[in-house]
Amino acid sequence: MNIQAPRGTRDLEGDLIARFQRLESVARRLFAVYGYEEIRTPMFEADELFTRSVGEVTDIVSKEMYAFTDRKGRKLALRPEGTASVARAFIEHGWASRGRTKLWYAGPMFRYERPQGGRYRQFFQVGVELLGVGTAAADLETIDLAARLLEELGIPARLRLNHLGCGECKSAYGAAVQAFFAARQEALCPDCRDRLRKNPLRVLDCKVETCRAAATGAPAIALCATCAAAETAVTAGLAQFGLEYDVDRRLVRGLDYYTGVVYEMTSAALGAQDAVLGGGRYDNLIEELGGPKTPAVGFAAGLDRLAQLLPETAAPAARRPWFYVIGLGAETQAPAAATTRLLRRVAISRGREEWVEADLQARSLKASLRRADKLAAEYAIIIGENEVVSGAATLRAMRTGAQAPLAILGRSPEEAAAAIETACGKLAAERV
Ligand code: AMP
Repeated sequence: MNIQAPRGTRDLEGDLIARFQRLESVARRLFAVYGYEEIRTPMFEADELFTRSVGEVTDIVSKEMYAFTDRKGRKLALRPEGTASVARAFIEHGWASRGRTKLWYAGPMFRYERPQGGRYRQFFQVGVELLGVGTAAADLETIDLAARLLEELGIPARLRLNHLGCGECKSAYGAAVQAFFAARQEALCPDCRDRLRKNPLRVLDCKVETCRAAATGAPAIALCATCAAAETAVTAGLAQFGLEYDVDRRLVRGLDYYTGVVYEMTSAALGAQDAVLGGGRYDNLIEELGGPKTPAVGFAAGLDRLAQLLPETAAPAARRPWFYVIGLGAETQAPAAATTRLLRRVAISRGREEWVEADLQARSLKASLRRADKLAAEYAIIIGENEVVSGAATLRAMRTGAQAPLAILGRSPEEAAAAIETACGKLAAERV
């Protein structure tokens, strides 16, 4: 039997996991600075949550959702995105009374898309949601955070911005789009013919080649005075921040819940799948899901694509052991194990993530040192029978081969820490 990871999924390990960890730690730090709290929602939710929020005729729901029925006949779906779950939690826990709720999340999302470079069926997002505030200042806070995130990661990206209009300009726009495609119905896929009746803006977002071609020359949204002013408030703020942007009137985003300002960040260094982050306002979503009227804005960034773009220098260096403990002979196994435990306690109390490794295999000194070398350990700690008798292990600086006694066997972590300080200092001094 040869079982492989499902198509469109992958194991995150080695350099890739180091990149993901770096992305997550930078994101976590920035979200804290901007005052967002973490939320972890379930990876599956009621199917209806997504059909009602992301939208029934979107690609995400109609073609890409991992929907299933559980053993009791409940209709569930693996989450294709994070905002709907946050909105659900906001309503469920009655957070409207808080006035303002700022949340961030990170985790896997699932979409049955055709896998290709930068596109997976299980992919990872980090995102923020700012609920309860409908001002341009709130839009700007999330856009600034998005831009800051990419800047901190050293990833150049372009900000594209659009305004999807209020109910009125949106429905006028829908009618204009409907009229435009009415004459081109033959070129549309069957889904888009359906969309044209139910939700014409979705036709602009279809990925089918013929639909894309048919969309060339489609009208752009004409914003009413109020929406135009709302957009200007955001662009004026961006200018003040010194953030560059392009207004792109074709940017509709693939989810129905968006209203008002929407944005996307793209990287020229990626191929066809060039979007690294997308977001916008969704002022009606919470009410549509049965909650109180609550304006909201947020974004999600795709970690798989960001990981690909992370500069080499920003990825953490490979880890190497601080100490590699070698016990020589059957009699030394217990004291060597106790010494390893002690060294790990010292490492933990230093508050850093120093790695203490032990040779768990009974090998010759030569073979053990070879392994310490291979792992690029900074020091080897050698414990033979003489060392057990004297209570002092042999400390060896792997790079120079210099050795010194280290009296730590049976000592307290504090005593061991002091002895390490002295002995390592001595070896370092010998080197000069
Ligand atoms: P969306 O939730 O569609 O607005 O997407 C937000 C971000 O998630 C995108 O800009 C991508 O970076 C990322 N993303 C969306 N779908 C995928 C996918 N299938 N594979 C990898 N990343 C994705």
